[in-house]
Amino acid sequence: MSRRRSQHPKYKETKIGAHRLKPESQMMSYGYDPMLSEGAIKCPIFQTSTFVFENAEAGKAFFELAYGLREKGPREEPGLIYSRLNNPDLEILEDRLTLWDEAEAAAVFESGMAAIATSLLALVRPGDVVVHSDPLYGGSEYFLEHVLPEFNVTPMGFPAGQPLGDLEADLRARIQGRRVSAVLIETPANPTNALVDIAEVARFARSLASGDHRPVVMVDNTFLGPLWQHPLKHGADLVLYSATKFIGGHSDVIAGAALGKREVMSRVRTLRTFMGTMAGPWTGWLLLRSLETLKMRMTAQMKNARYVADFLADHPKVAAVHYLGHIEEGHPMYGTYQRQCLAPGSLVCCEIEGGQPAAFRFLNALKLVKLAVSLGGTESLAEHPATMTHSDLSAEEQRKMGITQGMVRLSVGVEHYEDIVADLEQTLAEV
Ligand code: PLP
Repeated sequence: MSRRRSQHPKYKETKIGAHRLKPESQMMSYGYDPMLSEGAIKCPIFQTSTFVFENAEAGKAFFELAYGLREKGPREEPGLIYSRLNNPDLEILEDRLTLWDEAEAAAVFESGMAAIATSLLALVRPGDVVVHSDPLYGGSEYFLEHVLPEFNVTPMGFPAGQPLGDLEADLRARIQGRRVSAVLIETPANPTNALVDIAEVARFARSLASGDHRPVVMVDNTFLGPLWQHPLKHGADLVLYSATKFIGGHSDVIAGAALGKREVMSRVRTLRTFMGTMAGPWTGWLLLRSLETLKMRMTAQMKNARYVADFLADHPKVAAVHYLGHIEEGHPMYGTYQRQCLAPGSLVCCEIEGGQPAAFRFLNALKLVKLAVSLGGTESLAEHPATMTHSDLSAEEQRKMGITQGMVRLSVGVEHYEDIVADLEQTLAEV
């Protein structure tokens, strides 16, 4: 039986009378009808590869819609067919994810890289250019620099943290009139927290339109989303997540998501079906569970991060702190931060005096904070971008992107802030 066909509409209500519900209040219930699952208050794990059709006519109708053979009837909903196409855990998760970003549609994937790679492949064609901000997450950078060129797609980077107006003329000259299929940005950038102005990028993308083609603006929103930044409201077409990070939030699952306008998402979903990069039901269920505490976790982490950043900024062995909450009036990205970000998030990047040896002593002496890559989990993590997450970049590229040998990236967790600060204090004494 199709969940969508028989679900009671009250489970998709977003208001009580005139009062509009906030996303956090809907994470326990939205899109799930308990009466379709024996009254279970929680959505079960639909660990099934295929779905039984009520009759042959229903199966035929489901396939006609899935393959776009005819238009959907006025009250008709797509039915469940096979878990590579759709599965209740994924559909409910996708519905709930759309609420934070106010997206028209969403698709979840088995990793953030699957979301990014599938979305890019859905949009690019041989001969195209993909404009992107630098630095990007290492995996995205590799995909753009090493995989897409094999398909005659040219990546073209521009530095995050600088007003786009200053870079536009140079970018246009390098594009040389070729078709730009997408502009992919990561803001704030990993690991430097440099910002890219989403509205400026959207304006630039519109200026590259020709005929009925316009570059799709894609934003990797992993660092601040889905709570503290909503790129679709600033003109982006597609939002990408490593759901491994804040959305999953417990460092126990790898997953990804893409959200956005229906038209773009339909291209992304189609390719997901044929590449088979969708998440499995168990991953979907874990993320549904995580979404219930997303706001609490991200809020606690964000509050803790301010104590951490303030402590580090005052420490004599710390040469610099890159933290959004410290951007002040007069900073070139102050206006962008004010317009685009709702809070500074929980990623704090600092530069330890004494370069790599000092940074390694800092990392090796940590007790509570764990030495590991990744971010956004409940526990605080620290890593060394130059030799770990960004080691694929040449020394020259690292220098250009502001990644120094003394740099340490901290992802602040939900522990008591005094305990995190105490750990940082004792480890800095060892440096
Ligand atoms: N985007 C960003 C900003 C990331 O930090 C990561 C992973 O660290 C990814 C994408 C890739 O996500 P995943 O590891 O879930 O494939």
